[in-house]
Amino acid sequence: MGFRFCSLFSGSSGNSSYIGTDKTHILVDAGLTGKAVEKSLKEIDQDASLLDGILITHEHDDHIRGAGVLSRRYDIPIYANEETWKAMESKIGKIRSNNMRIFYNDMDFYIKDVNIQPFGIPHDAANPVGFCFFNKGKKISIATDLGHTNSRIINTVMDSDLIMLEANHDEDMLMGGSYPQYLKKRISGSKGHLSNTDAGSALIKMISNKLTHVLLAHLSLQNNIPQLAYQTVIGILEDNGIKNGKDIAVDMTHRDRVSNFYHIG
Ligand SMILES: [Zn+2]
Ligand SMILES: [Zn+2]
Repeated sequence: MGFRFCSLFSGSSGNSSYIGTDKTHILVDAGLTGKAVEKSLKEIDQDASLLDGILITHEHDDHIRGAGVLSRRYDIPIYANEETWKAMESKIGKIRSNNMRIFYNDMDFYIKDVNIQPFGIPHDAANPVGFCFFNKGKKISIATDLGHTNSRIINTVMDSDLIMLEANHDEDMLMGGSYPQYLKKRISGSKGHLSNTDAGSALIKMISNKLTHVLLAHLSLQNNIPQLAYQTVIGILEDNGIKNGKDIAVDMTHRDRVSNFYHIG
């Protein structure tokens, strides 16, 4: 019944989300081992062998580690744009040619009854994307690994029922932390990652009457604390007159376990 969504694990160490309907089972990224992804899917009563596709946002290791193994083990198609394919081909191992599927940014396509729209995001990878998913009037959007948001991205994810948005780091923790200067620059740069404050400010612009659920994702282990990310975003929402738990529900993803399971519609 309706759309289902669950973050299997999320953070700088590895990312994967499940999105499905009665008929369709999709994985977005597979950033830990194939075994770890299988185990997480079992926890939400899903079976890796039934996956209809693995969508790849970009070629960084924390998004692709298990993709090749899962594709080979269960004969699952992998979907990515051309630039991402080129950048990840040597890392994920040999994929059967009929399982190498190409999508184009801003051109929607279907996997069974789920309509998928990939959109470009600013991040230091070959051609990174976020995704919007549509089924029976419901919309779920994923936007992680982006250095900043802009009006194009805001408009694309507008009117989602659920958004999974990156809240990667606390700016003070990053700047005062032990990372080398070049890495601090990369992460906080316009093609790096969204800070907690960035996420809160972006969310204000993404809010519509439809939006009920927000999931904060891709937290840094070194430069963030879940409670801090949560409080920072909630604080920004409240400063703008939006009440968590009433107007929308903000929830966390976890680096080492599945999130809540959402039925949308
Ligand atoms: Zn990345
Ligand atoms: Zn990442």
